[in-house]
Amino acid sequence: AKSAHSGEPCFYDSQMDDAIRERRELIADLRAALDTESFELHYQVQAALPSGEISGYEALVRWRHPTRGMVPPSEFIPLAEKSGDIVPISIWILRQACFEAALWPNRHPVAVNLSPIHLADPRLVDTVRSALEDSGLPPERLSLELTESAIIHDRRFALGQLKALKAMGIAIALDDFGVGYSSLDVLRSFPFDRIKLDSSFVAEIERDDQAVAILRSVAGLGLTLNIPVLAEGVEQPAQLSIVAREGCSAIQGYLIGKPSRTLAEPDRVRRTMSL
Ligand code: C2E
Ligand code: CA
Ligand code: CA
Ligand code: CA
Repeated sequence: AKSAHSGEPCFYDSQMDDAIRERRELIADLRAALDTESFELHYQVQAALPSGEISGYEALVRWRHPTRGMVPPSEFIPLAEKSGDIVPISIWILRQACFEAALWPNRHPVAVNLSPIHLADPRLVDTVRSALEDSGLPPERLSLELTESAIIHDRRFALGQLKALKAMGIAIALDDFGVGYSSLDVLRSFPFDRIKLDSSFVAEIERDDQAVAILRSVAGLGLTLNIPVLAEGVEQPAQLSIVAREGCSAIQGYLIGKPSRTLAEPDRVRRTMSL
């Protein structure tokens, strides 16, 4: 094939075809995945500072693909959002998290990530209500994690949805804080119960004074607004010390537990955090 612009040989067409074919295949597999029960939820512990008490577990979806092995959510969630398949998958995640958490021996809350597309679904509030009723999970034990991108499309509708969910007793967390663009305005206008500071800030705090300054400001903002700030992606004891010193209320990260089918043990978490 010749490129239309330069007249030079161009192999992009067939490569493009491959990419499109692969995408189509993956979308077809994704549609089958709900029927074949190929998704599973892993749980990552969240713990309060400075006590080290467990404050909850975040549900993170995994896809066991029949031939590709484990496909990470960063690959298939965006695909499902584009292909229009996210809502049924998201409903499964929500219900599965509620049913599993209802059986936990402890009474910790479960945090579920909510796709912006699902937040825009007018049936969401009913979906959440029946997930709670059917599973028997009390609303106080469910929290939903949302990124700013969920809110910027139709702010008024999003606000209505969040208020209806909060009225049921569900907590709402602002996820990936600091990497979007309208953060401060969003904090002012939306009833968030928790802020999750994006892991990119924590990753830099040992080398980068700016990252520490931002961490400190966000923790201070949380104190002023009376919204607890959780630092994501804490991997090292040194990062834990800085995050604790700068006033974050909670942490999550590989240091205290990786996402797993088995829930992290309270004693181990507490011991790791008292390092
Ligand atoms: P997220 O909500 O910000 O989730 C945190 C991600 O950081 C998870 O990746 C988690 O495994 C990873 N992580 C946790 N601690 C550490 C750490 O100490 N170091 C490093 N390097 N990474 C850490 P995961 O599970 O691959 O999920 C990636 C993203 O996919 C999530 O980001 C979320 O946006 C999306 N996602 C995951 N599960 C779901 C889901 O059930 N529904 C929806 N809508 N999105 C999901
Ligand atoms: Ca999250
Ligand atoms: Ca996050
Ligand atoms: Ca993220």
